[in-house]
Amino acid sequence: MLVLKSPQVVQQTVSRWKKDHKIAFVPTMGALHEGHLALVRRAHPLGRKVIASIFVNPLQFGPHEDFDHYPRSFEEDVPKFKEAGIDLLFHPDIHDLYPDDFSTRVQVSKLSEFMEGKSRPGHFEGVATVCLKLFQITLADFAVFGEKDYQQLRIIQKMTEDLNLPVGIVPHPTVRESDGLAMSSRNRCLSPEARQIAGCIPQTLFAIKNFADRNPDSNVSDLLEIGRSHLGATQIDYVEIASEKNLAPVSPETHLHEVFLPRLFIAVRIEKTRLIDNAALHGE
Ligand code: AMP
Repeated sequence: MLVLKSPQVVQQTVSRWKKDHKIAFVPTMGALHEGHLALVRRAHPLGRKVIASIFVNPLQFGPHEDFDHYPRSFEEDVPKFKEAGIDLLFHPDIHDLYPDDFSTRVQVSKLSEFMEGKSRPGHFEGVATVCLKLFQITLADFAVFGEKDYQQLRIIQKMTEDLNLPVGIVPHPTVRESDGLAMSSRNRCLSPEARQIAGCIPQTLFAIKNFADRNPDSNVSDLLEIGRSHLGATQIDYVEIASEKNLAPVSPETHLHEVFLPRLFIAVRIEKTRLIDNAALHGE
């Protein structure tokens, strides 16, 4: 496995590979868990060469967010990627991607206005900007993204469509712990008590899905109420139901069957750690 820092060297290396091979790419911020490694397994059949990146992207963190405290474990991550069969690990320093005079931003409007975009102003601009750069550097034919960050996935799909990028965005289902908690690098920040409380997030998804399956005529306010009652031990940022098409949260009086491809979105804080999750409320 090559480990490279320089965008130019990565581009040169991949240009040679690209003559004979498709390139599959898995972008990450490191502190690897099984969710990341599942994306790598999905990437293998897509490309003869598989590239991963580890970069904690400062552009997608707000001034009062956890950039400085985001978990980093590069030394432990390298053998995991090696074992997973990665051909090239791109691990740039901040200045490799953002020289002092860096001045471009990519903004995907509409899909970015809600939920994570509303709670974290500028977050998706940072995500879209770094992903466009990473796609240009790795010359990826395919890039795999987790449904764990569903809004991010949709925004990257939209960016590639709007900008005619020659990269296929491949979604992967959320990988969960045995109690259903979505795997996340930030789970490492949870104290044992907070970890216990976090179990209420998948329980909430399950309870709402279950109720919705049994009561297809239920209105959104009933479902959100179930959500708020299950998440009582957390600090709720939002519980929303939105169509997968436009991600605009629907009003509480809407009936679930009126929503096209409804999906439930949750963001909570437990102690100092912010966690998000989501689940489809339709059978597809
Ligand atoms: P991150 O390192 O958290 O930025 O995530 C890198 C990629 O892994 C993104 O596409 C995430 O959506 C995906 N990912 C993170 N956690 C999970 C999970 N539990 N299941 C599936 N994909 C995940």
